[in-house]
Order: sequence, then C-alpha cells, then structure tokens
Amino acid sequence: MAERKKLKREDYTVAWICPLEVEQIAALEMLEEEHHRLPQPANDHNVYNLGSINGHNVVVAGLHTTGNCSAATVVAQMRGTFPQLRFGLLVGIGGGVPASTDAGPIRLGHIVVSKPVGQHSGAVQYDHGKAEAGTFIRIGFLAPPPNVLLNAARESEVRRRRSSEDPLVTHLRRIDTSKRGLRNYNRPSSDQDHLYEPSYVHVDREKSCKKCGCEAGERVDRSTDDSDDENIYEEDDNWLTVHRGTIASGELVMRDGQQRDTLAQSDKILCFEMEAAGALNDFPCLVVRGISDYSDSHKNDKWHGYAAAVAAAYARELFYHMPVDEVKQCRIWETDVKEMIQNTRKSARAADYTEDLRIKQWLGPADTYINYTSAFALHHENTGRWFLEGSRYESFRETPDARLWLRGIPGCGKTVLASTVIHDLQRCVGSAASTVIFFFFSFSNESKQKLDHMLRSLIFQLSERHQTAKDRLVVEFKEHDDGRKPLHGTALQSVFGQMVDTVQNVTIVLDALDESTTRPELLKWITSFPSGHGRFLLTSRSEMEIEDFLTSWLPSNCAITLENEPVGDDIKAYVHHRLETERNLSRWRSMHNTISDTLVEKASGMFQWVYCQLEELSGCLDKAAVRLMLQTLPLDLNHTYDRILDNIPRSRVPNAIKLLQFLALSNRPLSLRELVDVVATDPNTSIPFDIEGRAAPPDTIVGYCSSLIRLTGQTVKYKQPYKQPGPASAFPYASSVEPVPKSDDAGSELDLEAGSETEYG
Ligand SMILES: [Zn+2]
Repeated sequence: MAERKKLKREDYTVAWICPLEVEQIAALEMLEEEHHRLPQPANDHNVYNLGSINGHNVVVAGLHTTGNCSAATVVAQMRGTFPQLRFGLLVGIGGGVPASTDAGPIRLGHIVVSKPVGQHSGAVQYDHGKAEAGTFIRIGFLAPPPNVLLNAARESEVRRRRSSEDPLVTHLRRIDTSKRGLRNYNRPSSDQDHLYEPSYVHVDREKSCKKCGCEAGERVDRSTDDSDDENIYEEDDNWLTVHRGTIASGELVMRDGQQRDTLAQSDKILCFEMEAAGALNDFPCLVVRGISDYSDSHKNDKWHGYAAAVAAAYARELFYHMPVDEVKQCRIWETDVKEMIQNTRKSARAADYTEDLRIKQWLGPADTYINYTSAFALHHENTGRWFLEGSRYESFRETPDARLWLRGIPGCGKTVLASTVIHDLQRCVGSAASTVIFFFFSFSNESKQKLDHMLRSLIFQLSERHQTAKDRLVVEFKEHDDGRKPLHGTALQSVFGQMVDTVQNVTIVLDALDESTTRPELLKWITSFPSGHGRFLLTSRSEMEIEDFLTSWLPSNCAITLENEPVGDDIKAYVHHRLETERNLSRWRSMHNTISDTLVEKASGMFQWVYCQLEELSGCLDKAAVRLMLQTLPLDLNHTYDRILDNIPRSRVPNAIKLLQFLALSNRPLSLRELVDVVATDPNTSIPFDIEGRAAPPDTIVGYCSSLIRLTGQTVKYKQPYKQPGPASAFPYASSVEPVPKSDDAGSELDLEAGSETEYG
C-alpha cells in the first residue's frame, strides 16, 4: 500500500459511526484512502480509523458495546478530539419491519435510511419503562440530519433511478468476498429470508430456527406481496433496494413480532436500532441501516455481514453527492438542536402516546411471559407426556370449571411441567375458543410475588386477547382520570372478575403458589373465585397451609403429587437430550447408558439434582473421572450444593462469596453489569471500589460460582457472532434460557440457582 497520509485532527469533517466489528470492516473497505493514525487525548478511549472518500476526510469510529449510552459517550469524546466534525453517519445493521414502502416490501439485505416526515426528524426515540421488561415508550424525535446530507440522499436516489447500473452495487463489490476473512459479506440466498407470523415465538435463542424446530407452516407467505405489480420488486443481485422513512431507536433490542407491529403502525416505523438515540442527542446524523433480521424472536446472524456491507455501500455513495465546501460550512447550532429536541418531546408527550401504551404503563403488569419461555426452553419432546396423555388432564380440559393442583418437592420439575401444559393448552384450544392466562410467582423477583402483581398480569393478558375484556379495561382507565389515579387492591379483583365475565372458557395457570409473599390473600382469592368462570391449574410445594386452603376447594383426585408419578421418564428424556446434544457430554458416548441409568435411578424425582450432576459431568476430563463421579454421587441437593461450593477454586472463593451474598440478598435478579461492579467492590480496603478490579469480559462472572448461578436474561444484541467460546460451553445454560428482552440496562441477569427452584420447581 502507498505511503499513508498524515493529516491534522482539524482536517476531519465527517464522522462514520459503527459499533460492530463487522460494520467497521465494511466501512474501511469503502474508504478511498486510509490515513495515518493520530495521537489522541488520554481521556478519549475510542478506536478511530481515518481516511477519505471523494475529497471528504472521514473518521470511522467504533463503539465498544452496542446500545445508545455508549454511542453518546463515543460521540462526545470524538467531537472533543476532532473539533471540526460537522455531522455523522450512523452506519450498520438493524432489525426491519415487514412493511412496504414505495420501494416495495422490506426484506433482509435491504437498506433503510432515516428521512424526516413532516415535523418528525425520521428517527424516533424509545425508552423502556422503568419497571418491566419489554415496554417501549416513545419519548420523542431526535435531531434531524443537516440539509447537506438530506440533499445527498435525495440526489443519490434520483441518480440511481435514472442510471442503468446501480452505483451501490459497484461500491458493494469493493468488498472482495473471495478473501477468506471477508466471506461473511456474501449475500445469503433468498431462501434464507424467512418471516414468521408475529405471534409465533422462537423458543431457544441459542439455536437456529431449523434446530429449534420453528415450523415452516408458521412462515408468512410473501410471494403474494408482489402479485399486483409482477416482478417489479423481485430481488436482483445487480440492484439494491433502499427504503427511506422513520427509524426507531431505543436502549432495548426489539425482539418481539407483535410489539414490533404495534409500534411500527403507530409511528410508521421501518426499522429498529440501538445507537441513534445516544448519538443524535446533540449531533445531527443520518441513520443508515442494512436489514439483518425482522426484529422478532427468530433473529439470527446469517445476514449480519451482507447487511453491514450494503449499509456501508450506501454511505459511501452519499460522499459523491456532498460538495466538500458545503460540508465545511455546515454549522452545528447546538442550542437550536437542543430546543428542537425539547419541543418534539413535549408534543410527543402531549398527543402521541398511544392509549395502549399508557394503559399498560398505568396497569404496570410484570412480564410473566419471560418465566414461561425460559421454563419452556427446558422442556424436551417427551416432557410431561405421562401427564398430557393421562385421563386427569383430559378431563381437566373438558370441564369448564376444572381444578387441578400439582404439588411436589423442590426441584421436581413443576415449573417446566406448568409451562408444558400452557404450551399444550395454547396449541390445542382450537375450536373451544379457550383463553389461557398464567402467572409464575418467584422468590427471586420482588415484582412477581403478590396477589396484586398476579392480578395486574392476568388483567393485561386478558385485555390483549379479547376486545370485550379490553373495552372493560379502557372504561376503568378513563374512570381513573385517564390513568392519573392508580388502580389497586380490591378494584383490581373486581376489574378482573368483570373482564373474565365477558370472556368464555378461561384457563388460569398459577405456578409456585408457595413463592408468593401474600399467600393467605392469594389462596383466599383462588378459593372464593366464582365457580363456572374459569378453570385453575395450580402448582406448588406440598405445604400445610396451602393444603388446608385447597382441600375443600378441590374435587377429589385433583391433587397430584409429582413424586408419586412417573416423572422418571421426563428425567430420562432430559438426560438423554443433554447427553446427545452437548459437546462436553456427547464425547462419553460409550458410557451414556451407564450415566443415564445411574442418574435416573438416584434422582428420586429431582430434576434440579440431575441438572447439577450433569453440570459436573460436563467438566470431567477423562473417563476415569466420569466413573469416579458416578460412584460418588451426592445423596441429595444439599450435599450437591456442598460439593459445588467445595469445588470452587481457591483463587475464586472471595469473589464467589461476594457474588453469592449479593445474589442471595437482592430482591430482584441482578444484571451482569451490576455483578461486574460487585466484583470490583470491597468496603474493607482503602479503595472500596476499584475500577480495575472489574471482571472482564462480563460473562466470566458466571465462572465464579459454577452451576450455582444461572444466566436468565440477555439484552446484548449482535454480540453473539463474536462470542468467545469458553464460559458458554462450560455452562451450557448460561445464555440459552432467556429468549425475550429484559427490563434492565444492557446486560444479562443472573439468578441464584440454589435459592430459587423456579426453573425446575
Ligand atoms: Zn425461529
């Protein structure tokens, strides 16, 4: 390569911001010249690559993590270092909305560019509610791009329409995909582009749709999209498709097809992404996104490379439509921008909140869906077959006000069974028009313990499924001064009662009654629920108090003690599945039968016990170790936990103790990010918080406490393709459990395995 130029920091006028490595590489391939790195101030930790395109000097800035908090930091530091930057291009991948624009239906590998509409800037900002997972609330519009960029976007569109060859494709071909390291930028074939029905949920995030068993019948057939104008929108290797319109930016990954469609409709959103909100707060940017998924649970990384490449190609083209002088003259009037942002926020608050979101915020339902999906992820093909195919379940389904109580020892698989039943009921309700609503009580989450929490969640679920129930809730909302007065106590009970009255054939599944902190109230509510209005399926430990309440309420033969049932088959299926599918376990193939027989025999119905033994087995290095382990299996869960504690390496003990203390005493699951800080905290030393003491990378946290803790949440998006092997394979459950976004900041959540038996209980 020719000698690299060395310019001054003041010479750079355009920022190209891209968080992911796959996006940065694509950006570098688009540069005409690459320039010498320049020394940067000590307080600026960004990574910059410098270069030029068509006479414009460009700073390519990378982020360390996705999410708009860090985008804001990157932009602030970058503008300190390069004082003449005029505006930014936010270039990378994003999640599409399966809508249609002038350019046809949005598909994977297309480009979406922010475009102001009316008074809107073309980038709308979402914030999640404080309390719970997955609530997206619109809080305003972001700073609009400067005219010079908008003009460039318009001009490039016009030129492309009139030309016989697509200049974007020419740019795209700069990425030489015959090079080994750039192969991932090839376009996947069109039969890799699947859109599923919005309500059809992908259960296991670690697996592809194929492995996860997502059914082809649930895919949306979009061949008819084009029927009006045949062939106009056909995918073509020689032409890229660009959609311009509104892009939504938030701190949460959009991963839910139904929520995606609700929001997309209210604001005509074409794409969801995570960086613009942070960057655009006081720095005008154009947002350019290559579509790599459909913002639903079936996300995967197949399209990341190509989507990053098309976005970069589009960004490069813009430089051919921006006069260098005009860019230099472009001024950032910060006060104007701030004022504009404030104004748009005000008007958004006043008028544009959709009523649905306001009602949801007012009601504040805990997200119980996350418990359902993470429990269901642990089920296997034959889990619960003994129950689902039995006569008690059959009569439960056929009796309108049936009641069943599944009780059992801790760790016997109650919650997984409950989730399996919910799944089955949802699937086979069919013509009976039955509605299944559910709640999972949880020791480890303060917002899922009270009768009040349960009612809010059930009310919300009913309102989502039935218009009549929803109408009832809207009336209540209006009567409460449009949500300015809170709804609680007995009012919740009566609203729920009225809503149920409007709906036929409701099934209420309540898991882990024993984990409720308002047990007497809860049991009273259940047993005084008017008969004939719904059927109940309850699970809990066999405790005296619960039994006292339920005995006279339950018909005979409707309390099922799991220890007396053939759960051994479930355990066997579970053991087999793990032995077959996990790398560290499948290598003991010749011993599989011995392992399986021994574990099933000694489990006495305790899933949790089996789980722990399999964790330990997967750490065995040789056959002798496996044999020894099988000969010295701990008797019960307490012995098992003792042994796990004993096996924590001495060097990790201090931090393990600290982490377990925090997890045991916290009234909600903690995020990985919080636990990273726990490790760095020691009140007994002269530096109570030592930033250098943080564990890095964050997922090494899981390694401190072995199988005593478990990752149940994951909101860090696009990280997966770059995930190092290591913790994830040593702890196979580490990131496989939680398939929907959680409330917290970017990061995963950890639950204490020993303290909470919910996953298996
Ligand atoms: Zn899927």
